[in-house]
Amino acid sequence: MITSLVKKQKDFFSSGSTKDLKFRKTYLKKLQKALTYYEDQICDTLYEDFKKPKFESLASETQFVLFELKEALKNIDSWSRPKRVSGTWINFPSSDWIYSEPYGNVLIMAPWNYPFLLSLSPLIGALAAGNTAILKPSEFTPATSGIITKIIAEIFPEEYVTVIEGGIKESQELLSQKFDYIFFTGSTKVGKIVYQKAAENLTPVTLELGGKSPCIIDNTVSIPVTAKRIAWGKFLNCGQTCIAPDYLLVHKDVKTKLVEALIKSIKELYGNSPQESPDLARIAHNSHYNTLKEMLIGEQLLFGGDFNDKTLFISPALVDEPDLKSKIMEDEIFGPLLPIISYDSEEDIKKHLSHYGKPLALYIFSKNKKFRERLLNGYSFGGGVINDTLLHITNSKLPFGGVGASGVGHYQGKYSFESFSHQKSIIKKRFWPEIPFRYAPYKVTEKIAKKLKYLFN
Ligand code: NAD
Repeated sequence: MITSLVKKQKDFFSSGSTKDLKFRKTYLKKLQKALTYYEDQICDTLYEDFKKPKFESLASETQFVLFELKEALKNIDSWSRPKRVSGTWINFPSSDWIYSEPYGNVLIMAPWNYPFLLSLSPLIGALAAGNTAILKPSEFTPATSGIITKIIAEIFPEEYVTVIEGGIKESQELLSQKFDYIFFTGSTKVGKIVYQKAAENLTPVTLELGGKSPCIIDNTVSIPVTAKRIAWGKFLNCGQTCIAPDYLLVHKDVKTKLVEALIKSIKELYGNSPQESPDLARIAHNSHYNTLKEMLIGEQLLFGGDFNDKTLFISPALVDEPDLKSKIMEDEIFGPLLPIISYDSEEDIKKHLSHYGKPLALYIFSKNKKFRERLLNGYSFGGGVINDTLLHITNSKLPFGGVGASGVGHYQGKYSFESFSHQKSIIKKRFWPEIPFRYAPYKVTEKIAKKLKYLFN
């Protein structure tokens, strides 16, 4: 079934329909209308999957996607217009251009943590750029995957866009096909599998992966504001955010005050009994819940860390000075557990940062500009924020993506369109004038070249 679907999509792409801008806009508008209509139901499915609070679903999933759609519709004409660049004297006279062409038939694979956003946002880029697409949402958020399938099937013919639900088996079957582009969001481990499969066909990829994103706090900061912004960024979506601060590196002089302020902030955000709070999501699936529980074994808790096996609830937890070799510091946490590690010197920071691959995000809280610039220029990471968390994802004029272990490529807004397009370089010449120097015999050309060298030296 998957093989015949891929063939259908390839044939449809070959028909040239998706290259027509009017066609692309018609379908993007249909999608916009449907998503607006279904917005409340999408929020309900996110709640069903992992009790995602409605405000978080609107702010970090549906409205984000609708904004991407609006941007794409507003700019699709200018994004797809051939861009003229200046020519070189070697080719004079010529006009030089970059043409954007769709890759063809693309595969988009999404994870469960922002199951709607991370399925639809890349899809918008793929369609704006003129591709056909197969979307594979996560098996761990079945209600949301279900409504995505329903909406897509209502709007698109399957030869244009279709959804394949399922788990590893379906993913592997999809990856054994020859796509023209693969856009994958998920873990670094599976990202490597995707990259290997893509390499077999030299298929270009975007890999949006994870990693341990540090948050560094020096002794010049406003403690209450820092604590509130960290608590918000860490516990949104119950810590299941790819760019959430994974662990804190805090200057030893302000650690105690920061811990007190973090506890105060968590209580302000979720009350004295976070389990009763309507504003805290749950862990999306059992196996991840168990991994998080194991991470706390043998660790020193400063606050929180309560569990409920029935509801997959974990309360925000502050973990004191875990060892670099401990389970919680081994892998990306991806949950509401926050290790707090104190540092004394920039050497201590280096020891921690260089222990891991390049992270997806890095956050620095400091009023010391020189310190901030040293970190910004001294370390490689996907993107970040100074004196706040997560916000770099909210500006579609900024490319979003990782580097090294945290990913390959980037997207959002215009960058999505570019990621799903091949940039074709074209030089346009006329038949006149015909400048003879490039042709053999080179004797005359050599003489002129020598004279020119003499003139320019
Ligand atoms: P995952 O890698 O387990 O799954 C992602 C997709 O791959 C799913 O559709 C799944 O069905 C498929 N898959 C799983 N195992 C597979 C296999 N063996 N072969 C082929 N396909 C397979 O990721 P996840 O657990 O759903 O998501 C969590 C991870 O995603 C975290 O590491 C997080 O940091 C990362 N993430 C990154 C971003 C980003 O933008 N960079 C955003 C969200 C999540």
